[in-house]
Amino acid sequence: MYDLIIIGMGISGITASIYAKRAGMKVLLLEGSAPGGTINKISTIENYPGYASIAGPDFAYNLFEEVNKLQIEYKLEKVTDVILEETTKLVKTTSNVYEAKYLLIASGRHPKMLGLKNEEKFLGRGISTCALCDGALYKNSDVAVIGGGSSALSEALYLANIVNKVYLIHRREEFRGEDTLIKEVKETKNIELILNNEVTELKIEDDTLKGIVLKDGKEINVKGIFIYVGFLPNTAFLERTDLKMEDGYIVVDKYHETNIKGVYASGDVTKKEIYQIVNAASEGAEAVVYMTNK
Ligand SMILES: Cc1cc2nc3c(=O)[nH]c(=O)nc-3n(C[C@H](O)[C@H](O)[C@H](O)COP(=O)(O)OP(=O)(O)OC[C@H]3O[C@@H](n4cnc5c(N)ncnc54)[C@H](O)[C@@H]3O)c2cc1C
Repeated sequence: MYDLIIIGMGISGITASIYAKRAGMKVLLLEGSAPGGTINKISTIENYPGYASIAGPDFAYNLFEEVNKLQIEYKLEKVTDVILEETTKLVKTTSNVYEAKYLLIASGRHPKMLGLKNEEKFLGRGISTCALCDGALYKNSDVAVIGGGSSALSEALYLANIVNKVYLIHRREEFRGEDTLIKEVKETKNIELILNNEVTELKIEDDTLKGIVLKDGKEINVKGIFIYVGFLPNTAFLERTDLKMEDGYIVVDKYHETNIKGVYASGDVTKKEIYQIVNAASEGAEAVVYMTNK
């Protein structure tokens, strides 16, 4: 029986585990993929205090090192189901069942796709949601980045250093991202902006992705397409629970507690306004402080 089980080893879950360990709790971290979470997929982070600029995987490595240094127990097992009873929270993974007094859900979110025909088929074969992971495959080629938020802008800038040309395609006139990124994108010579337009079709020849077709009928030849059009929360394992959700995200109160007593949530999986590293970290910390002070 653990005091606390944390689902997700992103910045939010790992920060929570550090606070829990230091508060003397018996804590278990569960991770279905790579420790560090979304941070592993960010090319450069330039807005986290203490690091003027750091590569995402380096940041993720530092987090994982801290988990090991503090001897925080973790298991690389994907959570498939949870049963939330009054006193006990049961967590089922692909290979085990664990029990805890408290549960913190910090499972983050994953990229939304465009919903185009053949999109899933070409994921990893021309379509990507991670410039850092796949950018090098398109060295000196032309690529398209789809989206208008900070993620799309920063990843377009990253790709512009590797590829020949980036078409940045956004369905609106104005970008939603940070001003500094917008300015930099506009000043980068090999980024061409295509605004008020949308991708409607993938151009495929001989089972190879050749480009895209836009709403206005224009065709653009690109070797790679990077999609940053939003996210969906990772909550499939919560299907059998009565947790309150809004737009698929977990609703929490100011103590980061859900509508079920003893069940907390933090970071990108929760319904909130700002989805950034700095507040995902602070929410994980706060959740643990509040649960230990109750
Ligand atoms: C391309 C991109 C660039 C970004 N750039 C910046 C930036 O420059 N600055 C900034 O502040 N923010 C940035 N962000 C946002 C930032 O990365 C997130 O807000 C933050 O990392 C969220 O942390 P988290 O711990 O809530 O979730 P995540 O990091 O997503 O961690 C959740 C973890 O839970 C795991 N998980 C999910 N389901 C299960 C399951 N069933 N069982 C077990 N484990 C599970 C996942 O594998 C993952 O490791 C960027 C995001 C993207 C996509």
